[in-house]
Amino acid sequence: MTGARGFAGELGHVTADHAGVVCRCGKRGCLETVASVPAILEACRVRGAELVSLDDLAAAVEREDPVVDAVLREVGATLGRVLGAAAMTLDPDEIVIGGEVAHVAPVIVEQAASALRYELHSLPTDGPRVVRAGRLRDSDGALGALAAVFHQSPLLVEYPAPAPSGGRDTQRSAR
Ligand SMILES: [Zn+2]
Repeated sequence: MTGARGFAGELGHVTADHAGVVCRCGKRGCLETVASVPAILEACRVRGAELVSLDDLAAAVEREDPVVDAVLREVGATLGRVLGAAAMTLDPDEIVIGGEVAHVAPVIVEQAASALRYELHSLPTDGPRVVRAGRLRDSDGALGALAAVFHQSPLLVEYPAPAPSGGRDTQRSAR
């Protein structure tokens, strides 16, 4: 089930930055313009980190490049804010973040979880668990992953479940 018009869970074109760059869909500052692989690589280049591929990004994460780390944390925070609004709407048990970016840069998931907790802190619950997908690898990077968000929601029951996970502690060991 994907909603009345088929785009339930498609968060890539939620506006994440009103002053952001123009998206391929014609709007400005969609999440896709912030959290996709090309967008992340471009943000790193703008700040002087010459990355041209996902492998470059993985290597930069491995050597703990501070510029790249800052970019990834900002991306994670933006993602977390968007997920916060979605979680407020759907109250999922769990949020699964997949995609290649989440695979090579788990800090995005950690930062998204942190921002999400902030967004939901007025609620009298712990909020949803945020986990990294165990199997999902999407060539569109974080974007495909966003479509896989909320697999526990009745809206998206047909999405593949993540690998068994005990929560945040398993994210690092899964790489
Ligand atoms: Zn868009």
